[in-house]
Amino acid sequence: MKFSQMFIPTTKETPNDATLPSHQFLVRAGFINQTGAGIYDYMPLGKIVLDKIRAVVKEEMDKSGANEVQFGFVTPLSFWDESGRSSTMGNELLKFKDRKGGDYVLSPTNEEAVVNMVKNRITSYKDLPINLYQIYTKFRDEARPRFGLMRGREFLMKDAYSFHDSKEDLVREFNLMEETYKNVYTRLGLDFRVVAADSGAIGGSGSKEFMVLANSGEDTIVVCPDCEYGANIEAATRKKRHFDAWFENTNAPAKCEKVLTEGMKTIEDVSNFLSVAKAQNIKAVMKKAIYEEETKIVVFFIRGDDELEETKACNAVDALELVDATEEELIEAGLNPGYCGPFGLAEGIPFVMDQELEGEVGLACGANEDNYHFINTDLSDLEDVKYFDLVSVQEGDICSCCGGKLEYTKGIEAGHIFQLGTKYSEAMDAKFLDANGKSQPFVMGCYGIGVSRLVAAVIEQNHDEKGCIWTKETAPFLVDIIVSNAKKDDELEAGMKVYDELKALGIETIIDDRKKERFGFKMGDFELIGFPYAIVIGKKLKEGMVEIVDRKTLEKTEISINEVSKKIYELIK
Ligand code: ATP
Ligand code: MG
Repeated sequence: MKFSQMFIPTTKETPNDATLPSHQFLVRAGFINQTGAGIYDYMPLGKIVLDKIRAVVKEEMDKSGANEVQFGFVTPLSFWDESGRSSTMGNELLKFKDRKGGDYVLSPTNEEAVVNMVKNRITSYKDLPINLYQIYTKFRDEARPRFGLMRGREFLMKDAYSFHDSKEDLVREFNLMEETYKNVYTRLGLDFRVVAADSGAIGGSGSKEFMVLANSGEDTIVVCPDCEYGANIEAATRKKRHFDAWFENTNAPAKCEKVLTEGMKTIEDVSNFLSVAKAQNIKAVMKKAIYEEETKIVVFFIRGDDELEETKACNAVDALELVDATEEELIEAGLNPGYCGPFGLAEGIPFVMDQELEGEVGLACGANEDNYHFINTDLSDLEDVKYFDLVSVQEGDICSCCGGKLEYTKGIEAGHIFQLGTKYSEAMDAKFLDANGKSQPFVMGCYGIGVSRLVAAVIEQNHDEKGCIWTKETAPFLVDIIVSNAKKDDELEAGMKVYDELKALGIETIIDDRKKERFGFKMGDFELIGFPYAIVIGKKLKEGMVEIVDRKTLEKTEISINEVSKKIYELIK
């Protein structure tokens, strides 16, 4: 390809809202063009990269035996009513009416559509398993579209859905998809980690995320430096902590007492005043839980030194969302902020407890009365308590797999695989006849890769202050032949000769043959766009020499023009 014939509008201007390097550089280097909040056009270079990533995903999916299909971007709202998601997906689901008043949505994901496709077409276990995938546009009306391609509203996703006659067969496919995904990210040249994940609104149980490691990642992941353990903070677990009961160290009687704690409303104050560790206080976190038809005040009891993990908490009470409640709302519900505890909590207030508190004795907690706390409580005195994992794993907590000290790192969620089970097949009455002639709902899995998010993820992981540094599988062109002064016929001819040689070797090459641009400008574009290598045809051409520039290290090597193609071939293969 010739630079002079390509539309590559590079610019020095950075969009105001672009905080991430990938967002800044992809815009500045002429890969993408923003047209609205979270909506982007791909310009020629962007389209090449997107297609390359898509091709890798397609090759690996095809290798796994999955079949490519394409669902309508628009789906009837009735599908979503059937599955129940028309109300649970919230505002991310963009609904609209057509001219006849029919209700439709822009597909944010396609579980409903695939069930509709398979239902009544696959009727026997003999036709299972099957895995159907597409690489197609999605639309989610994200509350905060940002970071360029990272969190768009319109974006490209590979979504796959598998159908099975048993849970065991689903697990087999799930593991195959995990391997397939690993091949994809490895081929793309990414440093990634597979982690345990929360299943979110898609539902089902058993899910894993594929995290591209990058400081700018929106997700916090918990990793163990000593073993393979990794999990999204939303799903991370740790070894249960143990604390000696307070009375064991103080010889105080192991008897629950109500004590005056005047004006002590925070864990900090109460712990200091009573001389108990924060961990031996029960903290009450009061929230407003939003449900489809109502909102309720709910209380989460956790150790005083722990933090509530919102996703876990939300799952524990089956809410759509948790939001902060005002002090007035809490009081109106009958709660006593600052002195709230599980013993004698106002009637009818739903509460759940962190699993680490199960069976604990000797803890302090609010007495649900102004200025009073209980000490030396025994949680087994409480009846009908629901225990859940509710808290965020903290750095330094102990790995339950190996005893190592857990650490945080940041990641970009580039893929997510789920064992869905029968949630959608049951809701949409999609069944097959098993070997005994009995009608059963399909057992399903679903598997997503953020294809357009990967364009940004590659750059988050591979850039410097000058611009992008594409990996070999993702680079729009592997080599940029920079003709220093394209007005000079000998330079241009020499450049074209190398260009033809590289093309004959099957190496994707662009030649910067622009006559109106100076060398410095061309070099600047090379650095900003981030082709893996440049070959500079310049002054030394008279001596038969050119220069190879490695974009990653910016190192320059002089080489004879007769050997340069062979050398590039070696570097790339
Ligand atoms: P997130 O937590 O980042 O919103 P998600 O859990 O909603 O992601 P999935 O529904 O699992 O995502 O979608 C599969 C993949 O699609 C994700 O792993 C991610 O790579 C990509 N993806 C999801 N939302 C977006 C978005 N708004 N913009 C770009 N890619 C996205
Ligand atoms: Mg999302």
